[in-house]
Amino acid sequence: MRSQPGTRPKSPAHAWQELQAGNARFMAGERIHPNQDVHVRHRLSGKQWPFAVFFGCADSRVAAEIVFDQGLGDLFVVRTAGHVVDPSVLGSVEFGVQKLGAHLIVVLGHDSCGAVAAAIQAVASNHMPGGYIRDIVERVTPSVLAARREHAEPTVWQVEHAHVRATCDLIADRSAIVTRAIERGEVAIVGAEYKLAVGQARLIHVIGDIGPGAQVDDGDA
Ligand SMILES: [Zn+2]
Repeated sequence: MRSQPGTRPKSPAHAWQELQAGNARFMAGERIHPNQDVHVRHRLSGKQWPFAVFFGCADSRVAAEIVFDQGLGDLFVVRTAGHVVDPSVLGSVEFGVQKLGAHLIVVLGHDSCGAVAAAIQAVASNHMPGGYIRDIVERVTPSVLAARREHAEPTVWQVEHAHVRATCDLIADRSAIVTRAIERGEVAIVGAEYKLAVGQARLIHVIGDIGPGAQVDDGDA
């Protein structure tokens, strides 16, 4: 268990290994709740050094610190419904990378995503929802269309995968700060798909270098 700031992951590969280990503990029902005691809370009161930026869906069942068994100061978390990107999201991600020195950006999608389902429904019915929910659906819709170009009749799971990949690519395309950090090998972006029932976060997309041992698993099951 990491308990000292000196043992913080210092590379994208190490950061992903740490997160995989935490997710495995969560899946097995063996969480160790690292970095959550009074000592850690006091030590972090004046400074933070999260090793990863999380950008995930706001879904109540996909809380990053829980499903990756991390603690205070470990993750810089940004969440929107359907992990849709806007300038505030990009600014937050850049802050985590440039100001806080995070080594990994994790885009976390999941199965049974309501935002993705709403976008699929909007495309099928040719009817957009009202209010600011429309903004969410409009930002997921390109991923529905991308999945339709890849598959004649894409499953919801295939659309969710397309949306995670598109979100990773969008962050890399839009943010020069992130792109330069990736080129220097200081940061990588990974896209992961979380399965609610089993609690597993599967690696489905990588931009940058997270080491030779990382296997992308982009199957449909
Ligand atoms: Zn969702």
